[in-house]
Amino acid sequence: MAFEQLLSGKLLREFETISAMVKIYCKAHHKDSASHPCEECESFIEYAHTRLDRCPYGQDKPTCNKCPVHCYKPHMKTKAREIMIFAGPRMLLPHPIMAVRHLMSERNPAPGKPPAESSNRHQRIKLEKL
Ligand SMILES: [Zn+2]
Repeated sequence: MAFEQLLSGKLLREFETISAMVKIYCKAHHKDSASHPCEECESFIEYAHTRLDRCPYGQDKPTCNKCPVHCYKPHMKTKAREIMIFAGPRMLLPHPIMAVRHLMSERNPAPGKPPAESSNRHQRIKLEKL
């Protein structure tokens, strides 16, 4: 997936974590699909990627659970919650480091309002203008 190159640091790690969770979820729920992630889950991953790229907190992104900004569309949010509830506890064996890192950042306090123009996308646009 070429779009992984757009993200770095914490945002990239979050993207890898959510992608891994979607794959676990997809294998269990969409058994009939020829590929995992299936088309539907693939488009969810793409959606999550865009949201991460545009997250107004950028590299200071809190976990989505704690975030005061509700940036997911309602039906995508429902799907995200379903995926997390199912795949969260199943991450520990295949991806222990990702799972522990995510649990640790869940313990950080909820942030205040996001700073202006710190999303990954803003940073990228700024760099492109130089
Ligand atoms: Zn699927």
